Amino acid sequence: MILLDGKKIASEIRAELRDRIDALKAQGKRPPCLAVVIVGHNPASETYVANKIKACTEVGIEARKIAFEADITESALLAEVERLNADSTVDGFIVQLPLPDHISESAILSAIDYRKDVDGLTPENVGRTVQGLPSLVSATPKGIRELLSRYAIQTEGKHVVVIGRSNIVGKPMAMLMMQRPYLSLPGMSASSLGDATVTVCHSKTRDLAAICRTADIIIVAAGSPGLLTADMVKEGAAIIDVGINRIDDPSSLRGYKLVGDVDFEHVSKVAEYITPVPGGVGPMTIVSLLQNTLQAYNEHP
Ligand code: NAD
Repeated sequence: MILLDGKKIASEIRAELRDRIDALKAQGKRPPCLAVVIVGHNPASETYVANKIKACTEVGIEARKIAFEADITESALLAEVERLNADSTVDGFIVQLPLPDHISESAILSAIDYRKDVDGLTPENVGRTVQGLPSLVSATPKGIRELLSRYAIQTEGKHVVVIGRSNIVGKPMAMLMMQRPYLSLPGMSASSLGDATVTVCHSKTRDLAAICRTADIIIVAAGSPGLLTADMVKEGAAIIDVGINRIDDPSSLRGYKLVGDVDFEHVSKVAEYITPVPGGVGPMTIVSLLQNTLQAYNEHP
């Protein structure tokens, strides 16, 4: 079994990004700038935002945190989005999700200029990705594709099962895996980009286990601890665990631990490749955001 070490790969990519950004600065250019908008005080969101800002600083991207209280109105938040769209010193920005119930996430996401949409969540970017046009690809699927690529896991002709159909992971992941390589984005090796036969499963799927057993690669993004068990996995399959779930753990100082959607202990005995949680997909998601920020900077200086 080979552990797909997202933490190590992300660190290598950060070093590559740092070199590229140092080279820009050496030419007298300003560094790329990412703004992160956070609304309210959701502890998980605050941790994600802090991690994103730390990662920016490490590679030389300027990071600006813009925080609002949870009672900000939708129109005030839309005004902030418009301000960031127009700010020529900001190359990309994200609005950390989830937003409070009184704010429409789709209204906010749709208002982001797709050229600055480094989370790759605007309808324009999603549509462009579907059509194989240059786009900013949603960070988690992009990071997973990169992880597969760096471990030389081929997807051509393979059966990839994606569990979960969210806009941020499942749907764009399935799209990337089914894409023809020549429609790929610049900078990616064509060998492992897509050309897979993809099945998307979700909460209404019948006999998930039987479908999974036919998969060469399973990408699980369901938010359900222990969902993927060893009896659902074909010998030699590659398993990508996107899930991040907090479960009680009295032995930990925090009182909880993070687990994925995969029964790691048993599945790792059957699979050829598997991501750990934490340390697998999570670090790749953050580094994809950094790559997208540099891409936005380069494409729309
Ligand atoms: P979501 O939470 O919006 O939806 C879950 C999806 O899983 C739905 O499409 C649902 O139909 C499907 N699903 C749920 N239970 C299922 C079951 N028993 N069988 C089959 N399908 C089932 O999805 P999301 O926002 O993509 O998040 C999924 C998980 O991934 C969460 O744990 C989230 O925290 C995590 N996540 C991790 C990262 C990362 O960087 N590692 C990024 C995004 C999301």
